[in-house]
Amino acid sequence: MSGFPYQELKSPYRILLGPGPSNIHPRVQKAMMEPLVGHLDPYISTIMDDTANLLRFVFQTKNELAFPISGTGFSGMDAAFGNFIEPGDVAVIGVNGIFGEKMTDIAQRYGAEVIRVEAEWGKMVEPEAVAAVLKTQKKVKLVALVHVETSTGVLQPLEEISRLAKEHEALFLVDTVASLGGQEVAVDDWGIDIGYSGSQKCLSAPPGLAPFTANRTALDTLTKRAKKVPSFYLDLSLIAKYWTAGTKAYHHTGPVLQFYALHEALALIAEEGLEARVTRHLRNGTALRAGLEAMGLKLFAQEECRSNSLTSVCIPVGVDDLRIRQRLLNDFSIEIGVGLGALKGKIWRIGLMGHSSSLENVLLILAVLEKLLADEGYKTEPGAGLTAASQILKQSTTE
Ligand SMILES: *Cc1c(COP(=O)(O)O)cnc(C)c1O
Repeated sequence: MSGFPYQELKSPYRILLGPGPSNIHPRVQKAMMEPLVGHLDPYISTIMDDTANLLRFVFQTKNELAFPISGTGFSGMDAAFGNFIEPGDVAVIGVNGIFGEKMTDIAQRYGAEVIRVEAEWGKMVEPEAVAAVLKTQKKVKLVALVHVETSTGVLQPLEEISRLAKEHEALFLVDTVASLGGQEVAVDDWGIDIGYSGSQKCLSAPPGLAPFTANRTALDTLTKRAKKVPSFYLDLSLIAKYWTAGTKAYHHTGPVLQFYALHEALALIAEEGLEARVTRHLRNGTALRAGLEAMGLKLFAQEECRSNSLTSVCIPVGVDDLRIRQRLLNDFSIEIGVGLGALKGKIWRIGLMGHSSSLENVLLILAVLEKLLADEGYKTEPGAGLTAASQILKQSTTE
């Protein structure tokens, strides 16, 4: 006996409608109950090769370099700047929320001279603003953007800014943590040179892996580095050797069960089809937004660029943010996201990511919110949210 108290592990079942993690499919859960093998076992090698191919499929790329980094989404962000920035390099970074802000912090840690292109939170970064900054610069190493800014729910259009980066011979780096597997991410067609994601958002695997890809143009800059990448753990060239079919050189002990889970999550995407998956997220996102607006609630993100994977909605005056979120969790086992930074207490962030993006969840959250808001004294026309949402859902299922 230990002499100190502890409990047997027994996790509650939650409906995860926050900014991640999202719920995982039973097949993904089951994958983690498979027997553990050594991380250089021939079996895991075949699973790793599959995973790399599946990642190329989901990223829509022919890039040779495609693998998950062992670490959460931020390990992808850290690796992106740590490998492609050298001290003194100029990095032009779009900042319209927390994650763009984090990019500037990380880039500076690696010695970048950061030029911020700011937009109000809830708005997209305008191509004209990026163009104006680029005009003032001779040599820019990279232009970086967040595809879905999870702190606000803004979906950032990428193609025009990608073109601007190319004109300036700068690398184009995109955070697809909250979009990959939910919104379209066409790495090759959109000229994304460096992209990373996170396993626990629209891919619907547990947190702990950061899918990463980079093209030849980006990798060529690595061979010209004056000094080694400062981080041993996140050095892409070393991780690539571990992921190269046939060689599999030891770099770190791969988290085998996480690999299993991601493999199954990606296989589920292949089986559903990318287009069908994006359409599902579009349908459910549209229905949720319609429902919230029909309840008289105000959406926070700019209308032209609202993400389907994350919806930000303003908390009505007089409604207690914390009490509603606690009741959602305690009475209904539903998690939604809190506002970050200056938006704390001002917005909620409702995620419909991957396996969590379902018709049932849209109707559930609208019905429960209507009840909890009514208890707070916020009046809506009974059933208005559900009616508006089900109209959208009906339209798209009969199309
Ligand atoms: C969640 C998120 C991250 C960070 O991922 P972690 O898994 O929490 O490390 C980075 N960028 C965006 C856009 C995110 O939504």
